[in-house]
Amino acid sequence: MSAKILTSYVDGQFMDSGVYFDNINPVNGAVISQIAEANSEIIDVAVASARHAQQHEWGAMSVNQRCALLHKVADRMSEREQEFIDAEINDTGKSLFQVETIDIPRGTANFRTFADMAKFAESETFITEMPNGDKALNYSVNKPLGVVAVISPWNLPLLLATWKIAPAMACGNSVILKPSEETSSTAFLLAQVMDEVGIPKGAFNLILGRGKAVGNAITSHQGIDAITFTGASCTGKQIMKSASDTVKPVSFELGGKNSAIIFSDADLNKAINGVARSTFTNCGQVCLCTEKVFVHRSLYQSFIEGLKQQAESIKIGYPKEEGVFMGPLVSKVHQQKVLSHYQLARDEGATFITGGGVPTFNDERKNGFFIEPTVITDLSDDSRTNQEEIFGPICHVSIFDDESEVIKRANNTQYGLAASIWTENLARAHRVAPKIDAGIVWVNSWFLRDLRTPFGGVKLSGVGREGGKHSLGFYSEPTNICIKIDE
Ligand code: NAD
Repeated sequence: MSAKILTSYVDGQFMDSGVYFDNINPVNGAVISQIAEANSEIIDVAVASARHAQQHEWGAMSVNQRCALLHKVADRMSEREQEFIDAEINDTGKSLFQVETIDIPRGTANFRTFADMAKFAESETFITEMPNGDKALNYSVNKPLGVVAVISPWNLPLLLATWKIAPAMACGNSVILKPSEETSSTAFLLAQVMDEVGIPKGAFNLILGRGKAVGNAITSHQGIDAITFTGASCTGKQIMKSASDTVKPVSFELGGKNSAIIFSDADLNKAINGVARSTFTNCGQVCLCTEKVFVHRSLYQSFIEGLKQQAESIKIGYPKEEGVFMGPLVSKVHQQKVLSHYQLARDEGATFITGGGVPTFNDERKNGFFIEPTVITDLSDDSRTNQEEIFGPICHVSIFDDESEVIKRANNTQYGLAASIWTENLARAHRVAPKIDAGIVWVNSWFLRDLRTPFGGVKLSGVGREGGKHSLGFYSEPTNICIKIDE
């Protein structure tokens, strides 16, 4: 039987370029489907069709009509939820529990949330009174940017793509989505859903293909008005260069090297459980995952023992098997990258408390891309291991003695995405949290997200904020209208 073919979706039609690459199941290395890689003609059709829809059918709709259609998208996604779950698991190997509680429901929630928010978006009004007595009424009209390119990563494929598509479309933009080449399947299903519920052709387009060729062709295209990107910081730098020729607005959610700080007044069990979750969830493939842990000297030994025990009790295996917390990493290439970081840690002199290798399987899973949860110690803050993003299930644990020291050490990084603080002392939580250079600081929790709050990073971790009114702010542009009031 020939493999299923996933194609791009442009101008309301599925388009097969005739040039394919394999989509691989990371559990066993088997080919699941063929991805038809888009070419420049397909991209040109997508851009022209997106422009037309934005200026006509889609852009001309009232906010209420547009948002009603986006609710239909969410409803249809819910009806086809099992297909989305299966597709996400096949592409990523992540556990059923995570996909059915986070990835897919949050993807659907993104459409509902932003459709509702766009309907109630406010505009600004000012009465101006000049010294000479002149008066004016100023108000703002929020207009869409036009054609928005959405470039998304493989780690939370549907969730992170829809986190951009939903607000962009709710604001009246047309969208061109390029998902990661590792995870095209849920994006393909989403294109079917858009088609089924009657989104006007061109308002949503899907372009499949690899980053360097197809991604670059989109971001450097003259017909694209704005780029919203989630992915690696080095890719963000390249996209910023290609966007600079036409001075396009960019929104970037990039990498992280996130700290957890366990103060002497922390609840130790809560902290151990929390750090185990923040390090090993999705095999460490969440931009918010913890890779550096600072533990107060008084708790260090008990913390290390507790975390080791947690890491060693993690069940690794088939994503749908009962109790499995970790499936494989997303790809062979990524497994090699994470293993090269394990080796680098060894070369830099790390002590491995647990893990450091690949779990043994005597079945098809030996062809998969599994990896062991790993805890290391004894490296300096300036080591490459403690400075570079690994994006795997590993953390380095070190000792600290006082508050000001640990704040400085947590901020000793080029990244600034997330941090978590573990303390039962409220005053300390309020004092320390704002001093951490990161877009989000959790206290006694991790990955507790409200879609209305500002989300993003500082330094190499990103440009701008998403979430709630921040997303609506990026995907629309206010025009100030100033009306002189004659006396
Ligand atoms: P990546 O940068 O390799 O790829 C992301 C997307 O960019 C993919 O669709 C890819 O095809 C495309 N791409 C690659 N090169 C391109 C180019 N030159 N021009 C245009 N597009 C290009 O990232 P990844 O490996 O898919 O994802 C992992 C990274 O994403 C990690 O660094 C992680 O921290 C980061 N991430 C950040 C957040 C956040 O919210 N800050 C969320 C998730 C992931």
